[in-house]
Amino acid sequence: MLSVTFLGTSASRPTVERNVPGLAVVREGETFLVDCGEGTQRQMMRYGVSFALNEIFFTHFHADHFLGVIGLVRTFGLQGRTDPLHLYGPKGAKKMLDQALKLGIDHLPFPVEIHEVKPGEVIGDRGRGTGERYDLRVFGTEHGAPSVGYALAEHERRGRFDPEKARAAGIPEGPLWGKLTKGETITTDDGRQIMPAAFVGPNRPGRLLVITGDTRPCASVVDAAQGADLLIHEATFGEEEKERAKDTNHSTALEAAQVALAAKAKRLVLVHLSARYSVAPEELLTEAKTVFGETVVAKDGMTVEVPYSD
Ligand SMILES: [Zn+2]
Ligand SMILES: [Zn+2]
Repeated sequence: MLSVTFLGTSASRPTVERNVPGLAVVREGETFLVDCGEGTQRQMMRYGVSFALNEIFFTHFHADHFLGVIGLVRTFGLQGRTDPLHLYGPKGAKKMLDQALKLGIDHLPFPVEIHEVKPGEVIGDRGRGTGERYDLRVFGTEHGAPSVGYALAEHERRGRFDPEKARAAGIPEGPLWGKLTKGETITTDDGRQIMPAAFVGPNRPGRLLVITGDTRPCASVVDAAQGADLLIHEATFGEEEKERAKDTNHSTALEAAQVALAAKAKRLVLVHLSARYSVAPEELLTEAKTVFGETVVAKDGMTVEVPYSD
């Protein structure tokens, strides 16, 4: 299972309906956060997101995306946490997060490690013990400050085993089937060597989940989101404020949709809405859908599952 829960979908400041940015990614029982705006911990409680997490990935260090880490680490301390917490973010992460963690407290009862990441970096070999592994790819975004997005890219899965073919070839059901499924060559009781290729289909694609954070529409996002099963793109403004979007290094809903189209993404979720669209985001949805049909506007507490494409 791979799913995303939107903890905050408002840009810059909270509204009655929407908190500032925060996103929980849950994959095969493992949870991590992408951004952690003020009040994120309370949103986690409201929407049933586990506090048993070891990593937070920050897209950038504008206040709406990281102030929540101050309170969240206090709560972790009160809960008696001893496991290390890993915080990732672009250039400046060490300075900003170090200050945030020291604010109003002498000592945290668990270690915190801060990692600065660069576009092009792969935080790899993840997902041990959860079936297929995956990479977290860091990609560049354009937001007028050091900023990155994150792409969760699962490795290919083994092809499907064909039991009918195996039976027809006289391979008895049991451990030999298991070995073929795992891609191993087997020897049958009557001494035949059998290669797995004939009984196992081609490798199948894993899932690709792409989270932009704040950004102008840009080529690096299009590249990172090629064929994405789910693209989560900021859409701070509507077309009537497209100049403002440019001036403030944000995107309009239509621009986000154009990125999704150019990347041949399968689905698009719009987040990071300006307060003026908090109650009525239909205008953003309508504009986006003129170029990309499979679009929804996120709301706080919404969970989106990311199924395999096959
Ligand atoms: Zn923001
Ligand atoms: Zn920002």
